[in-house]
Amino acid sequence: MNIAIIGTGYVGLTTSLLLSQLGHKVIGIDKDQDKLKLLNSGTSPIHEYGANELLAQLGDDIVFTDNLPGNVPNSDVLIIAVGTPPKASGEADVSAVEAVALEIADCLAQNRDYVIVVKSTVPIGTNKRVAYLVNKRLRERDIDTNVMYASNPEFLREGKALYDSFYPDRVLIGANEDLAQDILSRMYRPLIDQSFTPPSFLPREEHYSVPPVVITDPTSAELSKYACNAFLATKISFINEIAGLCDRVGADVTQVSRVMGLDHRICSPFLNAGLGWGGSCLPKDTSALQAVADEYDYELRMIEAAREVNERQLQVVIEKLQSELKVLRGQTIGVLGVAFKPDTDDVRDSASIALIRILLERGANIRIHDPIATQNAVALLGADNVEACDDAYIMAQGLDALLLATEWPEYAQLSLEKIASAMASPVLVDARNFLHPEDVAEAGMRYLGIGR
Ligand code: NAD
Repeated sequence: MNIAIIGTGYVGLTTSLLLSQLGHKVIGIDKDQDKLKLLNSGTSPIHEYGANELLAQLGDDIVFTDNLPGNVPNSDVLIIAVGTPPKASGEADVSAVEAVALEIADCLAQNRDYVIVVKSTVPIGTNKRVAYLVNKRLRERDIDTNVMYASNPEFLREGKALYDSFYPDRVLIGANEDLAQDILSRMYRPLIDQSFTPPSFLPREEHYSVPPVVITDPTSAELSKYACNAFLATKISFINEIAGLCDRVGADVTQVSRVMGLDHRICSPFLNAGLGWGGSCLPKDTSALQAVADEYDYELRMIEAAREVNERQLQVVIEKLQSELKVLRGQTIGVLGVAFKPDTDDVRDSASIALIRILLERGANIRIHDPIATQNAVALLGADNVEACDDAYIMAQGLDALLLATEWPEYAQLSLEKIASAMASPVLVDARNFLHPEDVAEAGMRYLGIGR
């Protein structure tokens, strides 16, 4: 099939690579010239395992361009994967989705079948709104062509984006028309059957067979995406709430979550107590879902509580630091990890960054270290406010406290003795419960975890 994907960020690029590998003719369209330059030189603008390798392997089979009018008319499927950032009110801003839908409508050709697919995470009813805008523009242009609409939300995890795309937990197609369902089922057929040849660096794991396919209406598809993210956020907030109680009664939340996770009805992922959830999805999607519910005068009490617990979690970490340092003003605090989670350089809505902002407001001096995300953090926080360090041991020199905020695997390899001896006061707040308290204590550092 001929497929145009508009927006080549985390979702659009990953989907482009997947569909190209499945054998389709894919055009990735973006208006960001820097991104296009990198992509056309074979370099992924995002840090994702396998992206550079797949770009090299696909070579000229995949094209990246800003030329939407030149490529949309000949495409069978048009996938919108642009951003839907939060507005100040918390609602999702769908202006980029609507703008792209109109740009598409401006250049659709006569007498063809098209499916316009919304892959971006969008509020309930956006598919209908896109259909309305496109159909209106086509009437204005006096164009007679068959446009169908579908919702096809994305569930990838940053850091594992390609793996999740090739081996998804499910394929979700939200479309009312049989033909649209059929076209998208055909587009995903090699994925659904797992009949494609896996890239050598992304082998199919033995336990994986084929993904279940859910075909439903667009509204249910749109809501399913938000419900998933809201549930994941709630799960983390739940264990963080339990961690607060552990701190008070002297229990160890890592033991509690292990016991809970061994129950197959509960499962262990997303049950780690810590600094709370962040990133480009959970915060914005939970607030967007609340905004949707507000429109219908419906209270989402659990999601509201999950958001409150998450905000409180930053305060929990600040209080731990304060309990040791007393005064924060003037203290030099090192932060290990600024990415919102390991294996990504994405710092959007990172809990580590939110924490750093509070510490800066309280007058602390901040040094940061991250294997790959330091530059993005400096761009966000301002170079005058934080000192970026390439080396964790150099960062440790003279520190009043060290805070582990992102659980990068390499932090487990650090020599804690070396860090402790470099610090002015060897205090470690492990805001991800990542290290073993005994190891830290043995190295001569005071250890403070979350709920342990
Ligand atoms: P992103 O910011 O990484 O990428 C969006 C891209 O769209 C950018 O490259 C931007 O230049 C481009 N763009 C914006 N307006 C455009 C226009 N008019 N024409 C052409 N290109 C345009 O965003 P993302 O993280 O890939 O997220 C995209 C959507 O997918 C969002 O709705 C997000 O909520 C959802 N989503 C994201 C993830 C994730 O982990 N990042 C996972 C699932 C779903």
